[in-house]
Amino acid sequence: MKILANDGIDPIGKQLLEEAGFTVDTQTIPQDQLAEALLNYDAITVRSATKVRAELIDACPNIKLIGRGGVGMDNIDVDYARSKGVNVVNTPAASSLSVAELVFSHLFSGVRFLYDANRKMPLEGGTKFNDLKKAYAKGIELRGKTIGIIGFGRIGRETAAVALGLGMNVLAYDLFPFVGSITLNLQGGVKVDIPVETVSLAEVISLSDFISLHTPFADKPILGADEFAAMKPGVGIVNCSRGGTIDEPALIEALNSGKVAFAGLDVFDNEPTPLKELLNHPKVSLTPHIGASTNEAQERVGTELANLIIAHFNK
Ligand code: NAD
Repeated sequence: MKILANDGIDPIGKQLLEEAGFTVDTQTIPQDQLAEALLNYDAITVRSATKVRAELIDACPNIKLIGRGGVGMDNIDVDYARSKGVNVVNTPAASSLSVAELVFSHLFSGVRFLYDANRKMPLEGGTKFNDLKKAYAKGIELRGKTIGIIGFGRIGRETAAVALGLGMNVLAYDLFPFVGSITLNLQGGVKVDIPVETVSLAEVISLSDFISLHTPFADKPILGADEFAAMKPGVGIVNCSRGGTIDEPALIEALNSGKVAFAGLDVFDNEPTPLKELLNHPKVSLTPHIGASTNEAQERVGTELANLIIAHFNK
């Protein structure tokens, strides 16, 4: 059996597959050459870069499995593949903690102006040290503040756990109401359950000091001009979910007016070429869609993906 890991796979995943007798190729074949190349493979694994659309599926009758290392499957025509008898698997939980921790990287960056300080210190740190010191003197603490979480699935709940651990209040909204508890896994195997109930979207929007999005790709933005208008002045916005969930021009306007104090963005409407106004905005903390890109998450993704592939071909 031959597997093409077109967007790479963690070495541990490759090793597990090879030990189980699979041949794994990890070179990246350009999208327009994939149809021909895939004639020699039994399965393909991708992350978010490679697209597996209906035409590609039709062109590669030997492919029996498509594996997505990660969560979002918007780069794969999943229903079409399954209708043709091709199994499609992903590793939804493996990267939740890494994404949640990136939310807090952006939040800590936002409340202490790290994004701007990192841009200005190399240029002005020697000449205007004291001016910069003054400019960044009005930071705030996270403890005691309210984080609004929109989309209370795996990553939303993991984000809630980190927030609760920091002593923040959590307001969550999901299309499917949640009443239950979030478990904090503390040092020494100690577990603490904290009750959480979802509230309305309007409450999350109007009562939160920071709002973090954790919904799937949406055709229509969840946060647009009306929602920004209804938020607390000085709110911080974080998006580590998918481009399309925020109306970007409305966000830029809200940043310029001061309604939104800062935004932390890992995802954009137009990846890989986001709006210049966002990339250059002095109130925006930026990362290039790296929510799941930690060593630990990639090891878990690789291991889970390998086990799913082995289970599929050994059944
Ligand atoms: P999940 O399916 O566990 O949770 C998503 C939740 O959003 C569900 O509970 C769903 O009911 C809810 N939802 C859907 N539409 C909604 C709406 N309009 N309003 C409110 N709630 C809505 O998914 P997850 O694993 O938590 O992933 C969440 C998002 O994070 C996905 O978009 C995924 O693609 C993205 N993600 C990003 C990265 C990254 O690198 N930045 C990595 C992994 C996942």
